[in-house]
Amino acid sequence: LHDRFEAEHDLPPITLDGERVSLLLNAGLDLSAEHMSAKYCDGVGLYRTESWFMQRGQFPSQAEQEQCYRDVLSRYHPEPVVMRTLDIGGDKVLDYFDIEEENPFLGWRGIRVTLDHPELFLDQLKAMIKANAGLGNLQIMLPMVSHTEEVDDALLLLEQAYFELQEEWADQFYQIDKPEVGVMLEVPSSLFLLPEWADKVDFCSVGSNDLTQYLLAVDRANARVAELFEPYHPSVLRALYKIARDCQSLELPFSLCGELGGEYEGAILLVAMGYRRLSMNISALNKVKWVLRRLKVEDMEELLDKCLSASNAIQVHRFIREFLISHN
Ligand code: PEP
Ligand code: MG
Repeated sequence: LHDRFEAEHDLPPITLDGERVSLLLNAGLDLSAEHMSAKYCDGVGLYRTESWFMQRGQFPSQAEQEQCYRDVLSRYHPEPVVMRTLDIGGDKVLDYFDIEEENPFLGWRGIRVTLDHPELFLDQLKAMIKANAGLGNLQIMLPMVSHTEEVDDALLLLEQAYFELQEEWADQFYQIDKPEVGVMLEVPSSLFLLPEWADKVDFCSVGSNDLTQYLLAVDRANARVAELFEPYHPSVLRALYKIARDCQSLELPFSLCGELGGEYEGAILLVAMGYRRLSMNISALNKVKWVLRRLKVEDMEELLDKCLSASNAIQVHRFIREFLISHN
């Protein structure tokens, strides 16, 4: 079966009724391997900057970061690369930055850490903006935002980074650009703040891993409750659908970069909801594309209707199974 997916690796992701879906990569380390096996990809929808920080013994300097980001941006140029600012805390720890907490997933993580350490944040933003000079395919994304003040404070720091660089770079050959900025939707409170945020940011991307964790109050890394971590839970599906409808009415570009988009069952439901941009691990890309190329959006929408009114995830899984058998 794997060979059948690979055989279509250079065909575009278009549904049977002609809807183009953009499929992007989630990336962190080892980009060369990822790029080589993904002939047809629309860029990087999530570049996890912390993966590189986690492999080191100390914080990289601004110059080291610039070099690393430039490698990534140029490898995928002209396709977009969405670089997420440092998302540490929770399950992602740095040996050289001690965070000891009783409840790390509800503690100091993501944007909360970098806003408390503006020197780290500014260094990273400047490295990204400089790396993007002469390329222009950088988009910046903020992890774990849950309050409007965090969006405002992060945007202010981005302005500061940009203006300081403009002064430093006044006599350089390359112009620096102000990159597009987006937020991750992964804390439930963010779902109800979209009307406020839509005027402030350029795009948003759903982190379905954390969104599932926080909506269902199930630790994503705890084996004891792993069975309760269920992205096909009707509440999660309804939340994802609400995001799609709200973003459409606010004209805010939206995508999804959690693991759910890399499961073909999940991708089918997401496309039916209106998602046209899914970011996933390289190993999932050809399979998701293969499945989408064999289905019509209107049929997927019919399935979605049933799944949205299901009362539990078992029913949802059954509806999807029946659908796939009948559309085989
Ligand atoms: C997510 O939470 O869904 C996500 C994409 O980010 P991460 O898995 O890195 O927390
Ligand atoms: Mg996350």
